[in-house]
Amino acid sequence: SKGSQKGDEEKGDSETAGPKVNYVPPPPPEEEDTIFHQYATGINFDKYDDILVDVSGSDPPKAIMTFEEARLCETLNRNVARSGYVKPTPVQKHGIPIISAGRDLMACAQTGSGKTAAFLLPILQRLMNDGAAASKFSEVQEPEVIIVAPTRELINQIYLEARKFAYGTCVRPVVVYGGTSTGFTIREVLKGCNVLCGTPGRLLDVIGRGKVGLSKVLYLVLDEADRMLDMGFEPDMRKLVNSPGMPPKEERQTLMFSATYPEDIQRLAADFLKVDYLFLAVGV
Ligand code: ADP
Repeated sequence: SKGSQKGDEEKGDSETAGPKVNYVPPPPPEEEDTIFHQYATGINFDKYDDILVDVSGSDPPKAIMTFEEARLCETLNRNVARSGYVKPTPVQKHGIPIISAGRDLMACAQTGSGKTAAFLLPILQRLMNDGAAASKFSEVQEPEVIIVAPTRELINQIYLEARKFAYGTCVRPVVVYGGTSTGFTIREVLKGCNVLCGTPGRLLDVIGRGKVGLSKVLYLVLDEADRMLDMGFEPDMRKLVNSPGMPPKEERQTLMFSATYPEDIQRLAADFLKVDYLFLAVGV
């Protein structure tokens, strides 16, 4: 399926060749079914209303109760509805307004609680407000968003959600992970990249090759931070935040997610997040 996906994207590119460099038309309709393909989650979202939520830190914004309150643009709202999302999960109710308010966040929530949309929606809304569009075929891509997750499966899930929510917008998500050819990875990145999703090693690799500049990074998202530590990625995470061009924590928004909150994660949060970050615990 990799091959056909690549084919579709190349078709999209040739259609856009022309003087309006930044204009990216919506993908052709036949891709839509693939992008919004539903897979059963086995999650009972109604049960989520009983889940305990704890927010700590100074001056947290009020939680939202509906997606309308998230004040997303029409395209994002349409993609949320097309994804079958009717009401926000607890991590979305609290996380979306925290991120929209520009606050750093350390969130403890289980896999499957809806973390991905909780960070993608406010981030994509900001990019839409800013009028972000990947500069196509530029020799160095300067993404506004870097998302890191420990495994190929996890980062690919995040990428697929990003592609779904960004459908019909000019925002281009790209995913990079080990095990695919570096040439393919680089070509995908150079086609245009606003939201760069990757596993730690491959991310550092594309950055180290000078293909990705970090100076425009607005958001750094570290998902499943506890698993990243378990898998020995702490040096890579530290290398990433200290990479040349990466804005210091005061000048970027950093969002960390973890199922557990042991001491080493608390230390990482203290190092990577602004002092006034909010701590959100969902059902733990
Ligand atoms: P996490 O990132 O916490 O592991 P996901 O964001 O992947 O969880 O959500 C798990 C599944 O639930 C996904 O298939 C996702 O599309 C779906 N989902 C997330 N939020 C909602 C919602 N508000 N309504 C319906 N489905 C949702």
